Amino acid sequence: MTHAIETPERMAIVERVAALGPHFAKRAADYDRHATFPHENWADLKAAGLLGICIPVADGGLGGDFVGYALTSAELGRWCATTALTYNMHVATTLLIGQLADDLDVDPEDRRLLEQRRTVLRRGIIDRGMIHSQPFSEGVAAGATEGILTKATPAEGGYRVTGRKIFASLSGAADIHNIVCVVEGDRRIRFLGVPADAAGVRIEGDWDPLGMRGTDSRNLVLDDVFVPAGNEWLPPGLFDQSARRWPYFYMTLSFSYLGLMRGILDHAGAYLRGEGGPIERRDHPIKQQGWAEMNLLYDRARALCYDVLGEAGVDPSFEALRRAWSSMVTTMNAAPEMAAIAIRICGGRSMLRPSYLEQAYRDARCGATMLPWSVEVCLERLGRAGLYPSTDEPPA
Ligand SMILES: Cc1cc2nc3c(=O)[nH]c(=O)nc-3n(C[C@H](O)[C@H](O)[C@H](O)COP(=O)(O)OP(=O)(O)OC[C@H]3O[C@@H](n4cnc5c(N)ncnc54)[C@H](O)[C@@H]3O)c2cc1C
Repeated sequence: MTHAIETPERMAIVERVAALGPHFAKRAADYDRHATFPHENWADLKAAGLLGICIPVADGGLGGDFVGYALTSAELGRWCATTALTYNMHVATTLLIGQLADDLDVDPEDRRLLEQRRTVLRRGIIDRGMIHSQPFSEGVAAGATEGILTKATPAEGGYRVTGRKIFASLSGAADIHNIVCVVEGDRRIRFLGVPADAAGVRIEGDWDPLGMRGTDSRNLVLDDVFVPAGNEWLPPGLFDQSARRWPYFYMTLSFSYLGLMRGILDHAGAYLRGEGGPIERRDHPIKQQGWAEMNLLYDRARALCYDVLGEAGVDPSFEALRRAWSSMVTTMNAAPEMAAIAIRICGGRSMLRPSYLEQAYRDARCGATMLPWSVEVCLERLGRAGLYPSTDEPPA
């Protein structure tokens, strides 16, 4: 039965990804083996209009909302989790300057600026296929609005920006790196689009990680880079307001991992039924038990995620926010747990590369570390939730 959040409009967008999925699945092992960015997949996403998934129809996009994106991301993650994770970074910016900004309090002058700048950003994506990344992490502090050492100094016509971002997914593929930074003496976060080809932009380091190897998440170094004022996508203060009032933004990564879980189920189910091989294994009670455990993990993660998606919006109650943290922990922990069970029931041959399950086992392990809502951060917050006065609740 269709879930209430799976409206025909949203599912029409999901269908676009479902049609591409089998092609993505065929390429996944290659990107994984060589730790290379999935350029071909991105070309397909672009051709299907999916770069503009959360851009209004009036501006040439597909008009998807936060929930529509979540469902689409899960479908993508089912076929290629690494592509889904990179896609998340691109789409997140369009959500931030779109649906989320629309829900915030913005004075008329700032609203005019926002309108002007997001038109430019959206045109770049729709007309020129520009790819955006979102390297926020600096490895200094876990909060969404904390630990930002990257500095923007006002200059003629814009800013000069210096700093260093770690794990900058799409580092070699993005046309624009959307970063958070601060101006000396001002606590508000600035959200700036750094052109990848600007003087002073450098990608450094090797990229040979455990999983999510196609994300190309090397370090992004900015050395006195000029960023034009027009690339300040959000008027100052709006990023902070968004982090406070639309915190669901920080759970977008988990949708890719929910999709990855679905992919693991697909593959383990096919193995048990004997599809593509001479022997079926479904009659073994011990394997049926493992299969049951996997389905339980998936159903719990999906149910909680869909529950949260059903209520996601501006100004959530504390209870709703708590459920969002619970959803993060549930999905990010369940994915590696499920991958481990899948390897157990599908046996040694599932570990021989290239193997969807072997790759999924490594990809799934990465989810828990994703800040600012890593599993540890969410557990820490959940551990305090309801025990202290609400004024003591942690920041975003
Ligand atoms: C494949 C991949 C792709 C990524 N892509 C991006 C990207 O595109 N953009 C981006 O901004 N970041 C990205 N990240 C970075 C990610 O979000 C984290 O910022 C990064 O993993 C943190 O590095 P660390 O674990 O070494 O940091 P550490 O700060 O050493 O944290 C280690 C762990 O300790 C926990 N922790 C840290 N501080 C606290 C605290 N105060 N309270 C409770 N627990 C805490 C967290 O669980 C964290 O996972 C990516 C990471 C990976 C693995």
